[in-house]
Amino acid sequence: MPKNKNFSHALNPEIFKIISRASDETGLESYVIGGFVRDHLLERGDPKDIDIVAVGSGIALAEKVSQLLPNKPKVQIFKNYGTAMLRAFDMEIEFVGARTESYNENSRNPVVENGTLEDDQNRRDFTINALALSLNEKNFGELIDPFDGLGDLEAQLIKTPLDADITYSDDPLRMLRAIRFATQLGFKIESKSLEAISRNKERIKIISGERIVDELHKILLSEKPSIGFALLHKTGLLPLILPELTALEGIEEIEGQRHKDNFWHTLEVVDNISNHTDDLWLRWAALLHDIGKAPTKKFHKKIGWTFHGHEFIGAKMVFKLFKRLRMPLNEKMKYVQKLVLMSSRPIVIADENVTDSAVRRLVFDAGDEIEDLMTLCEADITTKNPKKFKKYHNNFQKVREKIKEVEERDHVRNFQPPVTGEEIMETFHLKPSREIGIIKDAIKEAILEGEIPNEYEAARNFMLQKGKELGLKTENTQT
Ligand code: ATP
Ligand code: MG
Repeated sequence: MPKNKNFSHALNPEIFKIISRASDETGLESYVIGGFVRDHLLERGDPKDIDIVAVGSGIALAEKVSQLLPNKPKVQIFKNYGTAMLRAFDMEIEFVGARTESYNENSRNPVVENGTLEDDQNRRDFTINALALSLNEKNFGELIDPFDGLGDLEAQLIKTPLDADITYSDDPLRMLRAIRFATQLGFKIESKSLEAISRNKERIKIISGERIVDELHKILLSEKPSIGFALLHKTGLLPLILPELTALEGIEEIEGQRHKDNFWHTLEVVDNISNHTDDLWLRWAALLHDIGKAPTKKFHKKIGWTFHGHEFIGAKMVFKLFKRLRMPLNEKMKYVQKLVLMSSRPIVIADENVTDSAVRRLVFDAGDEIEDLMTLCEADITTKNPKKFKKYHNNFQKVREKIKEVEERDHVRNFQPPVTGEEIMETFHLKPSREIGIIKDAIKEAILEGEIPNEYEAARNFMLQKGKELGLKTENTQT
C-alpha cells in the first residue's frame, strides 16, 4: 500500500474531473468515499457504483454534474434522504450531503442533520469504508482518513470507526455487513467488534427480510461462503436468521453409532459447489439441501440413524423459509425446492448397478435441472476417506455417462407421452374420466421402464392393448 497520501492517480476516470469542476463551480467541497476508494486500494476490479459526499447540498452538486456531462443525464432525486443519483459512464453515481445521524431504538432510520465531512465519516460503518478522497482542485486526490482505514486495509481488518456496540445497535444491518465484507474480502473482524455483534445480535430483529437476504446473497456469492456462515454461527446470528441450519448442528451417538454433523457438512458442500457454479440459486440449493434432516432424524436399533423423507420435508421447509425472509415465491423457489426434493436421487442410483430405466426416470423427473442436480450431488461428497471419495466420484461419472447415452437415445427430458389424452378419448369414445389417466400413466411408465420405445406407433399399440385390458371398446356401440 503506498504511504504517500495523495491518490490523484485513483481519480483518472473522466467522471472525477467533471465532479471536480462541478464542485469548484458550485463552491462545494466534495469527496469520493466508501466502496470506490476501498476497492481501488484493494485492486478489486472495475467499480459499478461511486459514492460522492458534498459538504452542503448533494442534490445541487448532482445537478451541476449532469449539466457538465455531454448527454446531460437525468438526475434522480430522493428528497426525503437528501440524495441524488445519476448514471454516467456505465456507473451509478450517488450524491449525498455530508450529515450527522442520530438513532432511536426501534428503527434503523436515523434523524439526519447537515454536518461536516468528519461527521459524515463518523456515521460510516467501517474504517475501511470511511476513506475519502478530495475532489476539489486545490487538494485533488488528498486522502482523508481519520480512523486509519488505510492501516486496517493493510491489516485486513473490519473495524467500526466509533464504539462498536453503538454502531451495531444503531443499525443492526451493519452486523451482517461486517460478516459479508469479511467473507468477500477474506478479512478478519476485529475481536471487539465480533464480541459487540454477539452482544447485539437480537437487534437483527428490526431488520427486514429483504435486507437480510441481500447480505445473504452476497455471502453466498463469495468465493468461500462458509466463512460468512461460520461467522453467523459464531456470533449467534444464525439461529435468528436461518434456524433451519443451526438445527443441523451436532453429532449424536447411540450404541456406538454416530451420524455426521450436518451443519458443518452443509458448509463444505456450499464451498464445494461454489468451485463449480456462480449460480446463486444452485448455491442456495446446496445450503438448504439437508435442512429436512433435523426434523426427520431417528435412531433404529438395527439400522442406526435414518433421515427418512428428509428431502420431501426439506422441500416444504424451503417454502416456509423463503416466505419468512420475504424472498420471491416464484420459479427460483420452485427450482430450489426441486433440487432439495431430488437431492438423493442420483446417489441412490449410483449405489446400485446403474440401470437404463433408473436413469430414464431420473432424467424425466429432473428435466432441465438434471445437470445442476448432478453438480449438487458431486459437491455433496465430503468424505475424508480418499478411497471412498474416488469411488463416489467415479460412480457419478458413470451416472453422467449413462445420462448422456439415455438422452441421446430416448429423449425423455421434458418428454410428453406420444399419445395425447384427446386421442385416448376419441379412440375409446370416452368422456373425461379416470380411465384416460390410467392409460396415459401406463404409457409413460412403459416408456420409462423401456418396455416400449418413446415413439408414436408403439405407444398407440400399447394404448389399444391397455384399453382392451380395461374392457374398453374401440367401435362406437351407442347407436
Ligand atoms: P458494495 O457496493 O460492494 O456493497 P460499499 O462499501 O460500496 O460496498 P454500499 O452499500 O454501496 O457499500 O455503501 C456505500 C458506502 O456507504 C459504504 O462504503 C459505507 O461507507 C456507507 N454505508 C453503507 N451502508 C451503511 C450502513 N448500514 N451504515 C453505515 N454506513 C454505511
Ligand atoms: Mg457500493
